[in-house]
Amino acid sequence: MKGKSALVTGSTSGIGLGVAKALAAQGCDIVLNGFGDKDEIEKIRAGIEADYGVRAVYLFADLSKGDAARKLVEDAIEAFGKLDILVNNAGIQHTDFIPDFPVEKWDAVIAINLSAVFHCSAAALPGMQERNWGRIINIASAHGLVASAKKAAYVAAKHGVVGLTKVAALENATSHVTVNAICPGWVHTPLVEKQIEARAEAEGKSIEEANKELLGEKQPSLRFVTPEQIGGMAVYLCSEAADTVTGAHFSIDGGWTAQ
Ligand code: NAD
Repeated sequence: MKGKSALVTGSTSGIGLGVAKALAAQGCDIVLNGFGDKDEIEKIRAGIEADYGVRAVYLFADLSKGDAARKLVEDAIEAFGKLDILVNNAGIQHTDFIPDFPVEKWDAVIAINLSAVFHCSAAALPGMQERNWGRIINIASAHGLVASAKKAAYVAAKHGVVGLTKVAALENATSHVTVNAICPGWVHTPLVEKQIEARAEAEGKSIEEANKELLGEKQPSLRFVTPEQIGGMAVYLCSEAADTVTGAHFSIDGGWTAQ
């Protein structure tokens, strides 16, 4: 992937960081994005340059805002002269039953998990189409295919991402621009840690017990998926072997959606 550049949204942590590192390990220049401590982010950025011998820049953008999402892509194009790969990964979670679901939380989850994918794709596609090569990888979820109670906004957004992936793929099907979704099951990241802690507290259980319960309910493998494993799928989707793979969604979920 030498000479290619990738923007991974929400790559200061978790899955996004795993994907950014996996692409960097293939020689791809990286644009990082996401929230976090300034010094920590600089450490991550410099670490990627040192470990993989690629260029890495960090660009701040709050993806809850459509204008900011489009500007992020424009800035990423400016950083390396073009954008070959867009990984729409940034996401948040909120859990509540529908009648109790705060409207501002609904709006935020839809904005970050779904609308930002639309805005970033809209800004990235023209350049990819012009060069007749591009890869858009949307990090959806098992919740893009099946539902769970108390996750109305997240499930709606992730099902939306899977649908948007198909539309974008069809609109570019005759070109070498592909658009696919990855649907992970439970991955041990800060996003899931919060849910494990909430469960442990609510049920008066240890973190270890809450971990076991969480996996036992949904994920037959009883093992967490790792960010590195998601990164491996992203590398495959960016390869020439995947040039006719488009509009597809790939479950990496330890059997969750096979049930
Ligand atoms: P995480 O909390 O570790 O990382 C989320 C990233 O998004 C962080 O870099 C954060 O700063 C960034 N982010 C959040 N709000 C943002 C905003 N408004 N603007 C810009 N960046 C923002 O979470 P994760 O588990 O690595 O999740 C990454 C993606 O994977 C999400 O889309 C999530 O829905 C999806 N996913 C996660 C799991 C899982 O089990 N962890 C499973 C399936 C899908």
